[in-house]
Amino acid sequence: MKGYSCPRCQNRHLYSVRRGKKRCKNCLYEWKPKLGGLGLTRRNWYKVLLWFLLGHSIKTICRQTGISHYSVEKAVMVTRKVMARDVPRVFSGTVEVDETYLGGQKKNKRKNQLRKEAESKRGFGTTKQPVFGILTRHGKVFAKLVDDTEAIDLLPIITRRVKVGSRICSDTWRAYTGLAAKGYVHRTVKHGEREYVRGKNHINGLEGFWGYLKRKLAAKGGVRRKYLPLFLGEYVWRYNYRNMDTEKQVKRILKKITDSSG
Ligand SMILES: [Zn+2]
Repeated sequence: MKGYSCPRCQNRHLYSVRRGKKRCKNCLYEWKPKLGGLGLTRRNWYKVLLWFLLGHSIKTICRQTGISHYSVEKAVMVTRKVMARDVPRVFSGTVEVDETYLGGQKKNKRKNQLRKEAESKRGFGTTKQPVFGILTRHGKVFAKLVDDTEAIDLLPIITRRVKVGSRICSDTWRAYTGLAAKGYVHRTVKHGEREYVRGKNHINGLEGFWGYLKRKLAAKGGVRRKYLPLFLGEYVWRYNYRNMDTEKQVKRILKKITDSSG
């Protein structure tokens, strides 16, 4: 556990003194740690996290905890940042890869298809945001917003995140054709045949995650593009830890917030 360190000398050996303050054993500097950079006590952080992880809105969290809207909103944003960083680093074994587009009703269209539509319909569909995802058969997801869905966009992410020798399932999109040459066992499933599970070679897990993500974003009534990475981080996290009980989820996030606090 990382825990707190002295803001003056970075020493990690501290006394706990009155009113939640810490004192450095080395330089004797005294300060009040700000959990997550906010003036919320640990008890209040706990309350906010509990209500947030149970899926309640900022408005409800304020009403239930009596904490100001300003603080709750800040705390939720800090939480989303922590969630976005708490993702599996490397994948191995059998994994699925796939991409999709967020922000609109035209699902699962490649950028070149959209471009053609944009040309004929004047800008319609050009604002869609491509997302790339990796999923293990244990149900853990990694997802990232990408500029485009060509090999140059996707292969570097795969080689960074998936161990060489792993078995990768994808559809027949051309961006994935170079996978075998990179040292992976590559299995493809054709578009339109996704409902037929051909042994282990399917990408049903990611299809499930995309559905979940789109339902969540739709329920928000749309999310501003600059906040999309944070919301993506939140929903990936919620999906990855969906089988963990809420109290454990709260403790996990609280520990991450503590570790990143000065
Ligand atoms: Zn010190």
